[in-house]
Amino acid sequence: AAQQQDSQRLLDEFRQACDTPLAKLEAVVDAMVLEMEAGLAADEGCLLKMLPSFVENLPKGTEKGVYYALDLGGTNFRVLRAVFLGPGEGCTQESEVFAIPQELMLGTSEQLFDFIVSRLQDFVNRETQNKSPPEGHKRELGFTFSFPVKQTSVASGTLIHWSKGFKVSGTEGRDIVEVLREAIDRRNFQMEVAALVNDTVGTLAGGRYINSDVMMAVILGTGTNACYIERAEAVPKWQAPPPSSGVHVINTEWGNFSSPTLPTTFADDELDRESVNPGEHIFEKMMSGMYLGDLVRRVLLKLAQDASLFGDTVPEKLTKKGSLVTPDTSKMHGDETPDLETVGDTLKKKLDLDTSVEQRKVVYSVIDIIARRGARLAAAAIVAVLRKIGRDGKSGNGRSKTVIAMDGGLYERYPQFRNYLKEAFLELLGEAAVKNVDIELSKDGSGIGAALLAACHSKYG
Ligand code: ADP
Repeated sequence: AAQQQDSQRLLDEFRQACDTPLAKLEAVVDAMVLEMEAGLAADEGCLLKMLPSFVENLPKGTEKGVYYALDLGGTNFRVLRAVFLGPGEGCTQESEVFAIPQELMLGTSEQLFDFIVSRLQDFVNRETQNKSPPEGHKRELGFTFSFPVKQTSVASGTLIHWSKGFKVSGTEGRDIVEVLREAIDRRNFQMEVAALVNDTVGTLAGGRYINSDVMMAVILGTGTNACYIERAEAVPKWQAPPPSSGVHVINTEWGNFSSPTLPTTFADDELDRESVNPGEHIFEKMMSGMYLGDLVRRVLLKLAQDASLFGDTVPEKLTKKGSLVTPDTSKMHGDETPDLETVGDTLKKKLDLDTSVEQRKVVYSVIDIIARRGARLAAAAIVAVLRKIGRDGKSGNGRSKTVIAMDGGLYERYPQFRNYLKEAFLELLGEAAVKNVDIELSKDGSGIGAALLAACHSKYG
């Protein structure tokens, strides 16, 4: 009973520390708008990089022709062929996914890109329709490359550094499109790289093709990021002549946001300290798929150590990073049985723990607190962008519709997270304004988006 009381007291303290009442969320929104403005004004030294994407044209829905996309952003890469049928006719697509062998993630640039291009070439050669491009034209490709890149034009950008387990020699500091082109040439393959695309920008383009009210794209997956359409005048750091479209697509890199307004706890501090990038991506570490499960684990570990939540000994597996990941906690969060059987089964399977209903209830509460906080912060970030562009449904053009294209496994496969996000969104915008703003799931929109951006920036357009 004493243990139960201790657990309950610690849990209450933790709940308090993670609390995000409306006033607190509003403070996060305000802080983020200020950081966005700072990032648009200066090139260096800002939390939000606010990178212009060099996209000149966004899809209109009238695109026509066969275009390709290559998506490299993790342990898999994807090749895609899209046939755009013209105004109102939509498109068809085919794609294939390949795993990247571990040794190629640690090898040379030539080895990696020769492998990628050979798979792309096989894919293209297997096509049955549209066998050849028009006379005198090469096929064209949009390249989604989700690593830190300093873009220098719509079809060029320098790789700053590899991440996510890649350590490939000879690529850092080079134009990644040039690296891809050289591999294409080595194989005597005829393919033009027409656009280099961040995955958020691809998602925006894919969403925009279907709906011209799309103003913003958000990724909530392993990590989190967003891009949006900004007026050219609002980007003081842009030195070149303004784009003819009058707008920039800005990649916010909002995962790196941090602010004293964020409700951080001991678990966030610990996770950050033990991460590969301490001090960076604080916002992302509070809400994205790579971290939510680990935050839960850390809080349970503290409850085990300081309040003997699981009895006299601290469960061995609970001390190991990776023993509890977001898909596990998300599954437990969906448990609707009175005795929390799914929670019990998962704790048994993942942590080798036998638990009482009381203990399971504590675990469930921890999961709920962490997911709710993350989802509400994500909602605040979206509202910050909408407020920045006067699309929060409150200001002047309140009658126009605004659509947010959303992608990512966390949003897609975690209903409780999604619901908490929508709830906070409603609180922040209000009943009337929220009717003018839709969040639409755009599953894998970034592949089609990259092909569309190739179409919009075609050499032959
Ligand atoms: P990525 O962001 O790596 O490009 P996805 O958008 O598919 O890829 O997101 C994958 C991430 O989604 C995983 O890292 C995981 O954290 C999260 N995820 C996957 N399945 C679930 C689930 N059932 N519940 C909650 N999160 C999930």
